Amino acid sequence: MKGPNFSDYEALYKGYDWQKEKSNLSGLPGGKGLNIAYEAVDRHADGDLKNTTALRFIRKSGEHVDYTYAGLKAETGKFANVLKKLKVKEGDRVFSLLGRVPPLYIASLGSLKYKAVFCPLFSVFGPEPVFQRLSKGDVRILITTTDAYEKKVKGLLGRLPSLQYVLLTDTDRDLDEFALSYPKLMEEASEEFSIPTTDPEDPALLHFTSGTTGMPKGALHVHQAVVIHYSTGKYVLDFKKGDIFWCTADPGWVTGTSYGIISPLVNGVTSIVDEEEFDGMRWYSILEKEKVNIWYTAPTAIRRLMRMTIVPKESFDLSHLRLVLSVGEPLHAGAVIWGEKAFGVPVLDNWWQTETGGIMISNYRSMKVKPGSMGRPLPGVHAAIADIGENHFKVLDQPGKEGHLVLKKGIPSLFREYIHQEERYQKSFHGDWYITGDLARIDSDGYFWFVGRADDIIKTSGHMVGPFEVESTLMKHPAVAEAAVIGKPEPSIGELVKAFVVLKEGYQAEKDLERELIGFARKTMGPAVAPKELSFIDSLPKTKSGKILRRLLKARELGLPEGDLSTLEKN
Ligand code: AMP
Repeated sequence: MKGPNFSDYEALYKGYDWQKEKSNLSGLPGGKGLNIAYEAVDRHADGDLKNTTALRFIRKSGEHVDYTYAGLKAETGKFANVLKKLKVKEGDRVFSLLGRVPPLYIASLGSLKYKAVFCPLFSVFGPEPVFQRLSKGDVRILITTTDAYEKKVKGLLGRLPSLQYVLLTDTDRDLDEFALSYPKLMEEASEEFSIPTTDPEDPALLHFTSGTTGMPKGALHVHQAVVIHYSTGKYVLDFKKGDIFWCTADPGWVTGTSYGIISPLVNGVTSIVDEEEFDGMRWYSILEKEKVNIWYTAPTAIRRLMRMTIVPKESFDLSHLRLVLSVGEPLHAGAVIWGEKAFGVPVLDNWWQTETGGIMISNYRSMKVKPGSMGRPLPGVHAAIADIGENHFKVLDQPGKEGHLVLKKGIPSLFREYIHQEERYQKSFHGDWYITGDLARIDSDGYFWFVGRADDIIKTSGHMVGPFEVESTLMKHPAVAEAAVIGKPEPSIGELVKAFVVLKEGYQAEKDLERELIGFARKTMGPAVAPKELSFIDSLPKTKSGKILRRLLKARELGLPEGDLSTLEKN
């Protein structure tokens, strides 16, 4: 087995410099700047890797569709020319609402070439979350299927004034002058596209994340983020020439874009994309058949695999597997140890979030793994624990102290904006520090340990769910006067979304209504976001200033101490 890409963490960390790392990338020819898609596709297509498979799609049927780097250059060039034909301007937003199919990957990289901003949405979202994001993101072009268009988008058109065209991936004819055939446009487009001058600070990608007190926040990333896509590929994912990599995340989540699309391509390896949802036996057979070397997945999937009775290493040939990594939620020590037995390699946990655009803290192949710890900061990343109060901010020096996880500014992939929410963005920083919203501690060896979220955001099956978004949807139902939503610990999915509902007068708290409300939320928001449990309650606990005390609802639900109730408004 080939050795790790670096052996001495301390030495690498100490002498690290972003500028030096950046010089490992090619840059646009003629000194025309730095463009993610050029680094990911064109430079390889014009070099030794042109006939290497860049993306291998595994259809639901099991059939393969492969794109070489040269093929991907041609297809993404065509998509950029489609945008040109449709008179899209640089910086305009192109959204996708698609499963893990080739047009999503081609549109994302083609948009980056064109310098449009790309925003992938989860295909499982229902019409309301789709509307919130398209509207807030000022969508110009949406690429989706006819079915999703008919069911989720058509009814919203009057409320989306910026939307100019919908591109439909599964029809050869235009529906009208607005809903156009993607295959037809692609067939008519030229492959030749010259990437315009791209400033490293030009916007590139938009990812929505959940808010606690408001609707989803759109975190904007710039082309310079590619430095992190490259460096984390080298140091964390340990990519080497000829590697086969599989990231199971959907591009609707930032992991599925940064590591399901960009990082493996920037590093010139072959990336597997499975169109199907989780299926333990299918996943193991993909690892075996595709001879996957590096596998990036999530605790929610690992927990499901752990419940299966088979020992994968005994039932499948996993001898090619060099590295298994996990992100998105706490990975408990038991899962790390299980991985060692199941795969022959430990599962390496790492930490990051939508706003950071790439991995920030990680366990590395060459460093001792402490099961249950998120690991140590990426070279170039300065992470710390801070005590933050109403009027104070203090970085804590002593190990072992719990506090807010903060990151020093200057990270190439850190978000540059919450679109249309400048004040919210500014509030995420204190001086030179970005406040992540997570609580953590550092041990005396410099390892970071996750403690919890500092806010009410729920993590369910790897998805971030903002309580406010769910509450707002429930309140659209005529029976609901008020609603509050919490995350309730549930071993297989992390947390389940639980809603508390105060009914309007004239409605009875009955099982039928409970079912109706859950059904209403599922239809409007999609099953990934909607509550799984719902209880009726006479009134919601609130602060004197009128804020719902979700923390108290949660403590009561779980039978935990109720904590400081000084701000509780007495009914
Ligand atoms: P997202 O922006 O959807 O990627 O979610 C980011 C959040 O997921 C972080 O702020 C953490 O709360 C949580 N998270 C991500 N990775 C980890 C990890 N390795 N351990 C614990 N929590 C994590």
